[in-house]
Amino acid sequence: NESKTPDSLNKVEKRCAVTPSSAQRLIKKGASIILEAGAGLLSGYSDKEYEGVGVSVISGVNEAVSSADMVVAVNKPSEAQLALMKKGAIVVGHLDPFFQQPLVESIADKQLTAISVEMIPRSSRAQKMDALSSQASLAGYVMVMQAASLLPSILPMMMTPSGTIKPAKVFIIGAGVAGLQAIATAKRLGANVLAYDTREVVAEQVESLGGKFLKIDIGETGQTKDGYAKELTEEQKAKQQDAQRDAIADSDIVITTAQLFGRKPPVLISKDTLALMKPGSVVVDMAATSGGNVEGSVAGETVEVNGVNVIGDGYWSQFVARAATDMYANNIYNLVDEFFDTETNTFNLDLDDDILAGCVIAHQGSVTNDMLLNAYK
Ligand code: NAD
Repeated sequence: NESKTPDSLNKVEKRCAVTPSSAQRLIKKGASIILEAGAGLLSGYSDKEYEGVGVSVISGVNEAVSSADMVVAVNKPSEAQLALMKKGAIVVGHLDPFFQQPLVESIADKQLTAISVEMIPRSSRAQKMDALSSQASLAGYVMVMQAASLLPSILPMMMTPSGTIKPAKVFIIGAGVAGLQAIATAKRLGANVLAYDTREVVAEQVESLGGKFLKIDIGETGQTKDGYAKELTEEQKAKQQDAQRDAIADSDIVITTAQLFGRKPPVLISKDTLALMKPGSVVVDMAATSGGNVEGSVAGETVEVNGVNVIGDGYWSQFVARAATDMYANNIYNLVDEFFDTETNTFNLDLDDDILAGCVIAHQGSVTNDMLLNAYK
């Protein structure tokens, strides 16, 4: 019941890793679930609802953490929580492993096993557990809603006897999971949508959603075997910024979602380019928490840069906490369900399985993921 100002609430994690429905299904499988009191409240689930399906709701979590075989959260565990966990226990969450080397090494040192939801492979079989995708889809939707609510105009065309308002122009940079959802949402609201991505393979997807794909010749680009964008050279980055400038100047809303897996996101829009936009235009930077696609953006805040409102995202899930919790809890349920051994009522850590081989990043005293080991060198 700690009192929180609206501002501090903006940065509070409202999601929870389990819903009454996912808990019920896990309990039916044979798991027992202990939940920190109030953990579901900010996404709309009361302790009573959890208790009603057989969850033990407790206020002091230390004892539960020290006896649990698996500790599941939305984000990273604290060092204090790790210190309480028993040897061999599994910790699951958004562990942000490329940027949290000390944490991952500490998990390994404590003989705990870490499952990073960010490292779940992008395969058909793993789609139902893919938290990056479930959360990115919601983020794409939220960014359009945030931008629309700040724009001093409307998104659809409106023809009335009092005059005609032209549809807003929305430019989406980065057409991965979040970008495609943003395109679909902006289209549904009636905007004219233009999009760009360095992976030309997505042009067709953009067009199938009714968006227009901006063609820029920056030489060879491409994607990794997992479908992630490759980093551009300095010369390509400069060419991209030049070629996008007119489209940005002409847009009412720009939403940037460009990410490079395991690396800092690229800076795509300079303050000088922002100055070319109409006053009151809106830019949403989805990468604000990890360095930013837009010069001057601040994570979790809306700032005015050269007359443009720049929304630094990163805390988007607070606007749709229930939906985000529902999806994340389903991802976690599907992960546990896939590997649950109903004879022993334990999670079967089969490291020969390609999904676990990807997302188990620390086990039996070592960091086990090659991509991370390379990044940590
Ligand atoms: P992401 O979050 O890593 O990046 C977001 C987007 O930014 C990507 O489309 C990327 O190409 C783009 N980007 C990077 N640098 C850019 C730049 N300089 N300018 C413009 N755009 C730039 O990517 P994501 O959303 O996680 O998706 C990556 C791919 O994986 C997508 O094609 C997606 O469809 C695919 N995917 C597949 C599965 C599956 O098969 N199960 C699941 C999820 C995603």
